[in-house]
Amino acid sequence: MKIGVLALQGDFREHRISLEKLGADVTEVRLPEHLESLQGLIIPGGESTAIGKLMVAYDLLEPIRAFGQTQAIWGTCAGAILLAKEVGREQPLLSLMNMEIKRNAFGRQIDSFEIEMAVPFLPSPEKPYHLTFIRGPIITRVWGNARAVLSLPDGRTIAARQGKLFATSFHPELTNDLRFHQYFLELAKSESIG
Ligand code: GLN
Repeated sequence: MKIGVLALQGDFREHRISLEKLGADVTEVRLPEHLESLQGLIIPGGESTAIGKLMVAYDLLEPIRAFGQTQAIWGTCAGAILLAKEVGREQPLLSLMNMEIKRNAFGRQIDSFEIEMAVPFLPSPEKPYHLTFIRGPIITRVWGNARAVLSLPDGRTIAARQGKLFATSFHPELTNDLRFHQYFLELAKSESIG
């Protein structure tokens, strides 16, 4: 599997390490030509305005949008924000997923938190996953073919999927549990685009 990790800003190295542990062939994407022959792309956590501006500067916005029409993309935290169609403020977005997302929805850096939760769509679903939130967003609305796939016990949505596009408010790349990356590799391999 050839998987790209957008390497403009944020914690792309952690994603790279997780993917390599699963045997994927990883490319750091900094220019449009780096997308060639990839089966999937991860957009890491970081700062979504900074990553968006850098995507504009390196002419990556349109090529990644086109890539997402047929191939898998997973955005974690800032990456999830960049996938959304609505963020409620002006900033460069890929606008690929039918979802509205609220930035910094849990509060400030000091309000970052972790929680153990069972995630039904992962391998070994009975084994809880350690979710890490760092100034993460909340998915406030999905429509059309996008689906909310994971919510906190209080009902707030923290993951969504639309065909081969996947968004999470939290950071599986900061844990040693590789099940989310495994899930994404399966998604990248699948034929489904609907
Ligand atoms: N707060 C950041 C943003 O709004 C996201 C934080 C993160 O990726 N950990 O872009």
